[in-house]
Amino acid sequence: MNDSTVRIQDDLYEAVNGEWLKTAVIPDDRPTTGGFSDLAQAVEKTMMADFSDFAEGKKTSGIPEMKYAVALYKKVLDTERRNREGIAPVLPLLERLRSIKTPDELNASAAELLLQGVDLPIRISVEDDMEDATRHSLIVLGPDLILPDTTYYAEDNESGKQLLAVYSDMAVRVLAYTPLSEQEQKQYLEDTLAYDALIAGKVKSRLEWSEYYKCHNPMDTDEVASYTAPFDIKKVLRELYGENAPETLIVYDPKAIREMNGYFSEETFERYLHWAYVKALLNATEYLSEELATLGKTFFRVLTGVAADPTIEKQAYQLASMTYYEPVGVYYGRTYFGEEAKRDVVNMVRKIIETYKLRMQKNTFLAEETKAMAIRKLSTIEVKMGYPDEIKPFWSTLVFAEGDPLLPIMTRLSAIRMRHTLDKLHKPVDRTEWVMPGHIVNACYNPSANDITFPAAILQKPFYSLRQSVSENLGGIGAVIGHEISHAFDNNGAKFDENGNLKNWWTEADFRAFENLTRDMVEQFDGIEFHGGKVSGELTVSENIADNGGMGVTLEIMHTLPNPDYPAFFKNWARVWCEKAKEEYIQVLLTIDVHSPNVLRTNMTPRNFREWYEAFDVTEHDQMYLAPEKRISIW
Ligand SMILES: [Zn+2]
Repeated sequence: MNDSTVRIQDDLYEAVNGEWLKTAVIPDDRPTTGGFSDLAQAVEKTMMADFSDFAEGKKTSGIPEMKYAVALYKKVLDTERRNREGIAPVLPLLERLRSIKTPDELNASAAELLLQGVDLPIRISVEDDMEDATRHSLIVLGPDLILPDTTYYAEDNESGKQLLAVYSDMAVRVLAYTPLSEQEQKQYLEDTLAYDALIAGKVKSRLEWSEYYKCHNPMDTDEVASYTAPFDIKKVLRELYGENAPETLIVYDPKAIREMNGYFSEETFERYLHWAYVKALLNATEYLSEELATLGKTFFRVLTGVAADPTIEKQAYQLASMTYYEPVGVYYGRTYFGEEAKRDVVNMVRKIIETYKLRMQKNTFLAEETKAMAIRKLSTIEVKMGYPDEIKPFWSTLVFAEGDPLLPIMTRLSAIRMRHTLDKLHKPVDRTEWVMPGHIVNACYNPSANDITFPAAILQKPFYSLRQSVSENLGGIGAVIGHEISHAFDNNGAKFDENGNLKNWWTEADFRAFENLTRDMVEQFDGIEFHGGKVSGELTVSENIADNGGMGVTLEIMHTLPNPDYPAFFKNWARVWCEKAKEEYIQVLLTIDVHSPNVLRTNMTPRNFREWYEAFDVTEHDQMYLAPEKRISIW
């Protein structure tokens, strides 16, 4: 029994989850607990037991590609050796960086450094081309920042200053292990912070990144080279691709590239070198001694409010399962995901897509031609359910010498991965590739492929269970499926056609009508006070549109059930978003996460729908009431 005094009509989230929230304890090594996080922990526990058995030879996975995942797991656990070697495994790389004195010397080694994971003055990678989703493009963007967003660098941002102090303190202590003199250590850190501040003035903010279709900015390589000098991007590309170096690049962050001389020039070159040195050193700590690994995670712990690092066994599993995510995900799916559940959820997805089409047909703000295009886009959505049938050949190339120390192994593996990514440039896109593995508790929509992925790990209670009622499953996994489909028609997805190409398929008037609704959604969330901060309606608009669409379509299915249980639907919706998080983590998410806080996802979404008012007799005297003229239902 729920003895909470909170009425469901006033606060659905608290009424359903209040009792749990009172007693739930966030584990020391995590920023959150509840909902998604509980499932992730349960998956981790199961898989850690299996990894332990694999390592001891008590059990086999039956998957050849898992061999190296298990070898890597053991490598992390070999703390005796890691502690003995201390800082030594990273010294050759640091020496290499120290030997570079001029931009020309950097240009001569940049391709090699890129493969070794050293931060160059620009980031280079290969992605699906936004205008032609059958092929790839070489993309360029500015470097990564120390803090989670450009907004942290504002003059009046106190948490930015505090976090940089934590970072500095950590860097001082790690630098003390290097052969640098005390004077040099001080200089390197000073330059690192100064260089980071220069970058922060040029790169995109999280808000700007949230409109990802704006990343598509093709530019001649010659033009890009004129901005990046003295960094010779043409030379780097020639070394990576020989004769086949691309003549056009896609500039994801045009300002960062056009104004690159603001952070990379003859004058700032030394600062760059010191910044790259400190970053390479800190990135390596995770694979060195336990002492250095713990030290190197200080910033992350403070940033997320986490009290302690995971146990060494957990770290070993986490690294192995992240590095070999496809074989691990397939193992998880084959072992723990039933065919019956898979069939059931695939049917649910089909039903939701069909219902979405019906709703499109009944849509009141689109012209017939635009509706037809939207329906065509729905018809071509590919569904990836559970885990892939086959493991891609790439995973059997991810091998290493088992006698090597952990750090060179990880450097080698990331070089293989980087080379594989770069080699895709002149190959067609493989639409059968999975972007999210089976053991991850999440789901996603990929606008370039127009496909949705539901890993096996999310298809569990409270999201989904063969033992839950249909109404509960619709309020859980159903609404999540609807959410992912809705991403095809959020403010970003709407710019892509049924083949995943960035192409306008709207009439002008229809798009204007959609933009007006989008603006209404921005306003519905913008400025809501939350933990001393405010929600950004703009940053979260794509996810809020997706939640709104997901609930709309699943409620439509509820109408067709013989015995729909609307209260159960809404209660399970509240249950899946149940979460307790560390205050520090809440603050970071408020600034960078495109999702609204879980409490608001739970409490804002239902009030847009008639069914909510009917399910619990919600009236204008209740907190979760919204006047009919303010309710929004876009899809
Ligand atoms: Zn989403």
